[in-house]
Amino acid sequence: MKNAEIVIIGGGVVGASVAHHLTARGAKNVLILESEDSQGKGSTGKATGGVRAQFETAINIKMSLYSLDFFKNWEFDCEYDPKGYLFFATNEAQFDYLKRNVEFQKSLGVKQVEIVDCDRVSEICPILNCEDIAGGSFGKSDGFINPIAVMNGFTRSALANGAEIEYRKEAVSLIVKGGKITGVQTSDGNINCETVVICTGARAKLLAETAGVNLPVEPQKRQIVWARSELPLPAEMPMVIDIGTGFHFRPARDFSDKSVAKDPSIQSNDEILFAYPDPDERSSFDVEFDESFISKVYDRARRRSPFLFRTKVIREKCRAGLYENTPDHHAILGGCDVEGLYFASGFSGHGVMHSPATGRAVAEIILDGHSSFLDVSDLRLDRFEKGKMLHETAFI
Ligand SMILES: Cc1cc2nc3c(=O)[nH]c(=O)nc-3n(C[C@H](O)[C@H](O)[C@H](O)COP(=O)(O)OP(=O)(O)OC[C@H]3O[C@@H](n4cnc5c(N)ncnc54)[C@H](O)[C@@H]3O)c2cc1C
Repeated sequence: MKNAEIVIIGGGVVGASVAHHLTARGAKNVLILESEDSQGKGSTGKATGGVRAQFETAINIKMSLYSLDFFKNWEFDCEYDPKGYLFFATNEAQFDYLKRNVEFQKSLGVKQVEIVDCDRVSEICPILNCEDIAGGSFGKSDGFINPIAVMNGFTRSALANGAEIEYRKEAVSLIVKGGKITGVQTSDGNINCETVVICTGARAKLLAETAGVNLPVEPQKRQIVWARSELPLPAEMPMVIDIGTGFHFRPARDFSDKSVAKDPSIQSNDEILFAYPDPDERSSFDVEFDESFISKVYDRARRRSPFLFRTKVIREKCRAGLYENTPDHHAILGGCDVEGLYFASGFSGHGVMHSPATGRAVAEIILDGHSSFLDVSDLRLDRFEKGKMLHETAFI
């Protein structure tokens, strides 16, 4: 039977970051199990790569500040591109909400964020119909990263530090004896270990159940429409989000195009992504792109931006993937009542941008008993039973 010190289940961006941070601290015999034949087939490969510090809660803002700084200064090129995030409000109540958020973000150290009036919104995004816009908030150091590059960077570093990864190896259940983890049953034999980290994205709940733990992480389909415009997009276009409806759009970047991966400067400037969180979407593992979503998105584009409405869908690039939602839209980080069992799960759509802070926090919790670079105790699993749920409404 195989032995490992620490088994990380799931080789997406989060599992890779946990492996990187553990091995960078000197942890030995770290094994990543990945059920697919390669990495990036889960949510990480579907993510669009937005990164922002404009959140409502302190913990999300702090996770972002740490992670943005990491992306900026990382020796590995993750294609961090600070094009900004523009949230806009269509009534005074929403605008007040953005103003409160910006004050709070600044108080926590977010530097390049400001409240902008309607004229400035129109300058930042000239393709927007601004007639009903009260104002907005603009974060200049928010922007984009390449999710696959982030995952690859963490993986490369973890493997160089001695971690191993096994593909086509599905963790089927956790082995618990006397309230402690003693191993993992896989599709190809058992592995002895005393520490397991669950990084299985939208599937996290299923494995936790095998150890008798209720992990409130629900899968939910999220879709993106990919389109081409006749005219080039405005230069320096940021991510643009209607805070009232969640309708959003941004310049597209094709991470699967190998020539662009080698030279990001040849990226086309006429392709655009747009989407919104469909309230009719129920929890499921369905990742089939649903054609009817296209007309729903164009309906929203019609009034908001005639430029967007005139774009042509590139059907083969439209995609659907899974969000991994928790009841309060915050991640679940750290241990639980089963000794040796840890979670890095439930990112509710923010797992790529928060992967650096997550990996470091979980590594410190495992190796030192607590995370000292950032207090992430608000994200413990027991917040749900203790009635200490967080409150974040700035999610899309
Ligand atoms: C359309 C869309 C857009 C998004 N945009 C953004 C964005 O702009 N910014 C952002 O930060 N986030 C975004 N997200 C969210 C982001 O993709 C996720 O939060 C993040 O990828 C989660 O990473 P992960 O490693 O936890 O999960 P995953 O990438 O899903 O990785 C989990 C891995 O575990 C493996 N696995 C599952 N079960 C088992 C098992 N039993 N045994 C072994 N292996 C197993 C899977 O094969 C998979 O490789 C988006 C998501 C979607 C769907």
